[in-house]
Amino acid sequence: MTLNGASINELERLFQDLGEAKFRALQAFRWINRHQADNFDEFSDFSKSLRERLKELPLLPKLKILGSEKDKDGTEKYLFEVPPLSERAQPRQIEAVWIVADNRRTICISSQIGCTLNCTFCATGTLPFYGNLPAWAIVDQVYAIMRHRSERPTNIVFMGMGEPFHNYQNVIKAARILHHPEGMHLGASHITISTAGVIPSIEKYIHDKEPFNLAISLNHPDPAGRLAIMDVTKKHPLDKLLKTLRQYTRERDRKITFEYVMIPDQNMDRDAVQKLIKLARSVRCKINLIPLNTTLGGMRRPSMQEADEFYQALLDAGLTVFNRGSPGRNVNAACGMLALQAGGH
Ligand code: SF4
Repeated sequence: MTLNGASINELERLFQDLGEAKFRALQAFRWINRHQADNFDEFSDFSKSLRERLKELPLLPKLKILGSEKDKDGTEKYLFEVPPLSERAQPRQIEAVWIVADNRRTICISSQIGCTLNCTFCATGTLPFYGNLPAWAIVDQVYAIMRHRSERPTNIVFMGMGEPFHNYQNVIKAARILHHPEGMHLGASHITISTAGVIPSIEKYIHDKEPFNLAISLNHPDPAGRLAIMDVTKKHPLDKLLKTLRQYTRERDRKITFEYVMIPDQNMDRDAVQKLIKLARSVRCKINLIPLNTTLGGMRRPSMQEADEFYQALLDAGLTVFNRGSPGRNVNAACGMLALQAGGH
């Protein structure tokens, strides 16, 4: 149990166990999550003796920024060291990205050390998998970047390394902490959780009425085509996924965001366009197009003209569609490129 990554209820129990007053919990929560305090010396409303006592306990682990790389478009990729998460574990590395686009400053964060899914277009899927990140290591990516830059993001997206819904509990806990009014109080509509389509977790997300945006890494409108590029489809078939998403849009009265990586010779031909139009008309959604950023397995990035034609065909069909481009591509920070040169969905 750590102070960071803990809910106020958990902190109350922790301070009580330490023989301290309950109100310390709210104070500690504010220092960590509102002020992004780096160490106990910053807890100025704690007595010196209490601060010294807390310092002796491993209660405030931190990620270490090992380096960062900045693209000329303003995107900056951060490489972090995660301290060993168990006695026999080694320190590991993860990445997060600061993205500047339009009026938004977005932090894209990781949820796992590596990823067990093996999407053919994603560099993170080629890395070894070392486990789930605890909630503190998820929120600390945001706080470390904020401390480093002395600025606040407008948006947070769970689209870095890992499948967020394979680490459901910690991801939801981290999102709630980031959203909490006593913390940094980022609006729920400014927090997006992206999944490749882990159906039981989406069902829980609907049941628990989580208020954050939900994005689905779709990438192909056809079951067989999707299976060829996304392993997740074996266990979580496309038709069942779409049924669950319709339930989400109906019960929560929200739109789904589909992320669609454009890959020539895989998911951009006329048949794919027609199937994607049909699919998108069957679910309340918007579509974010992303030109392929990697060259894994001999795949290639679409030309500007190919990407524009694909975008235009969807637009002409009356769909809500955006081409987000590839911020951070020059420093391997764009979508699908996080592979510890500084990952993800
Ligand atoms: S796209 Fe997301 S789910 Fe797929 S391998 Fe990459 S990190 Fe994992």
